[in-house]
Amino acid sequence: MEKLVKEAMSDTDMDLQVKEKFEELIKEYKGSNHRQKFEVITKAFQFAYQAHKGTNRRSGEPYIMHPLEVALIACREIGLGSTSIAAALLHDVVEDTDYTVEDISNLFGEKVAEIVQGLTKMSGGIFAEAASAQAENMRKLLLTMSSDIRVILIKIADRLHNMRTLGSLLPAKQYKIAGETMYLYAPLAHRLGLFAIKTELEDLSFKYEHPEEYAHIEQALQSSAINRNSIYEHFAFPLVEKLDAADIKYEMKARIKSVYSIWSKMRAKNVSFSEIYDLFAVRIVFDSQPELEEKKQCWDIYSMVTDLYELRPDRIRDWVSRPKANGYQALHLTVMGPDGQWIEVQIRSRKMDDIAEKGFSAHWKYKEHNVEEETELDKWLETIQEILEDPNPNALDFMDTIKLNLYADEIFVFTPKGDIKTMPQNSTALDFAYELHSKIGNHSIGAKVNHKLVPLSHKLLSGDQVEILTSRSQKPKEEWLDFVTTAISRTKIETALKKIRRDQIKKGEIIFNEFVAQVEGILDPNLLLNKMICYFGFLKKDDLYYALSQNQIAFPANPKKFLKEKSNNMFARFVKQAFGATSKSKDSNSADAKYVAGEKIDKKKTYILREEAFNQNYTVADCCSPISGDEVLGFLTDENSLIVHKRACVIALKLKSSFGERIISCQWAGHKSASFQSSIELHGIDSFGILNQVTKVVTADLVVNITKINIETKDGFFEGLIDILVHDVDDINVLCGNILKIKGVKRASRVQ
Ligand code: MN
Repeated sequence: MEKLVKEAMSDTDMDLQVKEKFEELIKEYKGSNHRQKFEVITKAFQFAYQAHKGTNRRSGEPYIMHPLEVALIACREIGLGSTSIAAALLHDVVEDTDYTVEDISNLFGEKVAEIVQGLTKMSGGIFAEAASAQAENMRKLLLTMSSDIRVILIKIADRLHNMRTLGSLLPAKQYKIAGETMYLYAPLAHRLGLFAIKTELEDLSFKYEHPEEYAHIEQALQSSAINRNSIYEHFAFPLVEKLDAADIKYEMKARIKSVYSIWSKMRAKNVSFSEIYDLFAVRIVFDSQPELEEKKQCWDIYSMVTDLYELRPDRIRDWVSRPKANGYQALHLTVMGPDGQWIEVQIRSRKMDDIAEKGFSAHWKYKEHNVEEETELDKWLETIQEILEDPNPNALDFMDTIKLNLYADEIFVFTPKGDIKTMPQNSTALDFAYELHSKIGNHSIGAKVNHKLVPLSHKLLSGDQVEILTSRSQKPKEEWLDFVTTAISRTKIETALKKIRRDQIKKGEIIFNEFVAQVEGILDPNLLLNKMICYFGFLKKDDLYYALSQNQIAFPANPKKFLKEKSNNMFARFVKQAFGATSKSKDSNSADAKYVAGEKIDKKKTYILREEAFNQNYTVADCCSPISGDEVLGFLTDENSLIVHKRACVIALKLKSSFGERIISCQWAGHKSASFQSSIELHGIDSFGILNQVTKVVTADLVVNITKINIETKDGFFEGLIDILVHDVDDINVLCGNILKIKGVKRASRVQ
């Protein structure tokens, strides 16, 4: 190890301060509980040193001092290991030099490269410009974009060092960075349990944003120090005696509120500095005795405090029994001190104190030595992820973390100009187009996502930059409704389609009137209109007009004769036009037409729906899609072919009343192949892994053939649609029953 480190510093013109800083980093890492992987750290240092050689920071220091400091923060103050330290050392290499992520990957492996890439993505470009103006969205974006939480942790370390050295920048820049830190990085640090860093970030940005107020409070703190010390000493003296007598190993000190939190409190409560009573809290950090439970030791000290001083019962906070979401554990109480002031006392073990200051990374300091670094780190990262994903909703303290849970439903998408739009997850490029403006949506023809051409149905991801391509001649399409996901786009498309239809109806009306005008001898156009509506089986004249405008139907060749025709002859066309039997009978007209002619259907007998004749002698109606096992009836067409409807189908009911003589009683013979298309809809409460469980159950069913699964989650619920091919109704019932057994599924049923 020594040799490695010496070698890393062999460059003869390396500054003394660089050497010292690197040695400090190595020493810090050596003192940590991580597996001692010095090689990657020294290699990263050497590489970064060479890459940044010759460049200086604004302060005049060699540039490498910055990555070294960031690595030191990552190691010492956040408690990260070699992978993160290496990534921290390399974090500005891709951004500021000619080296690429690929170079990093070749030299240091994929993991380090991935983190460096994440960090590079977060600086510069749209990111830097959009950041301060849209801090709230940026914060969410940071969280949704980074698959590896270490990216964010190192980013926080980077920011902390930049804040510590902010003095050397121009005031305008100071102001911008300070603001960004306050809105973006301090809350992130807080959320991740990095309490000490959060406080320092807040104080530093407050100092640059409000220099006079900062100086004022600092001054006030100094001049009140003597008084405060005496209050503390009066309070502490009897307690020290008691604790010592009980043979407890501990450290007790007065913790002064940070300048920023004093200022926040002054503002929130509209009070002056002298009116703030809890300027300091007494913190007792004890070394836990292995034979005793930490919780019990906390309460033992608690009783020693309350034996001496009057307790304020409404101010007890037990975060030992139930830690805060960010991992904070301590017992807080407030007592009346000997000088007649309320004093807050915080009791925690050494371990709890470490976690409070450093966040969860401190946890593994307490695990055995030389543990596998990655697995321990993974565990910790998992814990953070869990907190991010599943905060405890019971406590108000967790409000902050609850909000985060909602981010999982949202994505953040950039316009070409760098504005951020918040969209629901699974939004498509077309949704984005409608989000911008209904005109853009209505005329969109495609999109460019991150400069690559994609169709309108393309699903967007957080961080995508999206440009919508439009054409004046484009019009909204019916199919668009299949892939838009937001209510806004749906409504806008439906409105536009209705308008198009209205225009077409008008056009059809004109066509009709023009036709009537050129036919001689028709006195009453309404008579023709009604006859045609009846003939083609439309319900309203608008439908007829629309069909005319679309060239779906033609006028009778001889209108006068047509008007005299008996309505009895109309039903075949009626069936064709109104119930979509045309497409099915097309099949039977082609190759299998002979077969159709061969089988004579006896109207008086129950027709058996045999598998061999399916889609030949009989077809199933599109309107109700019956499948084997459903109660059905048949409707006999002119071509001696049967269309099978569910008995409850509304169209079947209508047919029954109008064309009773064409209705045939039918019965299924049972189907051996899974040939019926059907769908199951399900919904329930979204929980971790639900999608996986549903998929598992469905794919485990060997009888059913899945053609499509679509499950979407929103606001804690999920909704799904599964398209399947089945033999009969039983298949569906069995599958629905199995899906319903999954915890969280509230409904699973066939789409009727
Ligand atoms: Mn940096």
